[in-house]
Amino acid sequence: MREINRIIVHCAATPNGQVFTAEDVLHWHTDPKPRGRGWKHAGYHFVIELDGKASPLVALDDDRFIEPWEIANGAKGYNQDSVHVCLIGTDRFTEAQWDTLHRLVADLGLRFPGATVHGHREFNPHKICPGFDVSLWLTEPARIEREHLLDSVEDDG
Ligand SMILES: [Zn+2]
Repeated sequence: MREINRIIVHCAATPNGQVFTAEDVLHWHTDPKPRGRGWKHAGYHFVIELDGKASPLVALDDDRFIEPWEIANGAKGYNQDSVHVCLIGTDRFTEAQWDTLHRLVADLGLRFPGATVHGHREFNPHKICPGFDVSLWLTEPARIEREHLLDSVEDDG
């Protein structure tokens, strides 16, 4: 297993409560320009959808591992030893998403002992990504989740 030193949390910067899937993110990143960004791989290892489903987009297994420098998005300059987790939405997330984020971050922490958890914006002050302070979330999860809880999901009707 490659060395992973950071778990970096992102948001998709999609309208809060609007349903998008990991598949959508994959298209946005890898479809040829101008429809997509034309990247070789998705920019996140996992996407957490509104219903709490976490879908892997980039493999972490050694035999199928994509070299982190091939990750075009992520956090520039920090991709070689980071795992990227993206929440659909901007700054309000469902209870299911918060639950999954907890579980996924804990699982990744066990898998990569010593990895520290960050928000993308810690590495790029020009970004708001994700729409909450990850270091505060780590120390006061209940408060941050309450402040950034999405209570209604728009359906298509
Ligand atoms: Zn980001």
